[in-house]
Amino acid sequence: MTPDLSREGLAQLLALEDFSPIYEEADRVRKEAVGDTVHIRALLEFSNHCRRKCAYCGLRAPRKDLPRYRMTPEEILASVRSAFEVGYRTIVLQSGEDPWYTPKLLGEIVQEIKRTTDMAVTLGCGELSREDYALLRQAGADRYLLKHETADEDLYQSLHPDGTLRERVNCLRTLKTLGYETGSGFMVGLPGQTPDVLAKDLLLLKDIPCDMAGIGPFLPHPETPLRDAAPGSAELTRRCVALARLLLPRANLPATTALTVRGDNGRVFSGGANVVMRKITPNAYKRQYEIYPAALPDTDIPAQRKLLEDQIRALGRVPL
Ligand code: SAM
Ligand code: SF4
Repeated sequence: MTPDLSREGLAQLLALEDFSPIYEEADRVRKEAVGDTVHIRALLEFSNHCRRKCAYCGLRAPRKDLPRYRMTPEEILASVRSAFEVGYRTIVLQSGEDPWYTPKLLGEIVQEIKRTTDMAVTLGCGELSREDYALLRQAGADRYLLKHETADEDLYQSLHPDGTLRERVNCLRTLKTLGYETGSGFMVGLPGQTPDVLAKDLLLLKDIPCDMAGIGPFLPHPETPLRDAAPGSAELTRRCVALARLLLPRANLPATTALTVRGDNGRVFSGGANVVMRKITPNAYKRQYEIYPAALPDTDIPAQRKLLEDQIRALGRVPL
């Protein structure tokens, strides 16, 4: 059967009793379009300061009990080098929205990474002006991750007192025109989200169109306004990843950290994902980058890379 990927069709597919034919189709499309490679990306969370108030996030500005940190440029470069030395070829530099790192300073860090390694640099530092994105692109940044979070305007507004969906999407379109490989994505299981909203989320990925899409379950954090909300379903998240594969056959689709935190790696790979991220954030900071509660192991960059490579091979896939 050819799945119906219209808005109505997607909402119906998400609710199927037996989704296995769609998983199989997503896996087939994945294999045909991007092969068996699983790209392993190093994720460095270099600052947990944030000026925004996203209702779901443990780093939100009003949270006064969280110790905040900023890694120095030297610390950032040392972590990146450790990842490079054990085989990582992409570094993802992620942070809260923290203007302490001016675009000039971030650009210098990117330039230094590009000068000393052949790594691709992905940034995930939130919303910036066109000029700032352009400066970072000129400095050598290859990719940018900025999830649209939810494609429903009312839901977006209820979760983001300091931004609009239109601004978010404008940033994504700007990133595309500047030549970034552009990543969006959304959370599954946000309170009030319906299958129709998820269908809109999926279609927005295609509309941009995204080169990457991070789709992860919403996980409630006890120090946020959404503390009492139910967590998003892992199964529904995997369904969304599979449908994203059908809509965007060549996209890079991570098995998001939120899913791997729950130990669902293998199953999410079977449904269309072809990327995995490993945190390389130093132990001194790692547990303070608490966007949602998670029992995180200590960072051991070589051992964790090796383990992940072995796990990927055991699934019959090829780590890169
Ligand atoms: N500040 C940047 C931004 O918002 O784009 C990057 C860092 S932010 C912590 C990265 C992602 O974390 C967000 O795009 C959001 O989807 C995710 N996130 C935050 N809180 C979450 C939660 N409680 N459950 C699941 N994902 C969450
Ligand atoms: Fe800040 Fe990003 Fe968390 Fe929003 S999701 S509060 S912008 S770190």
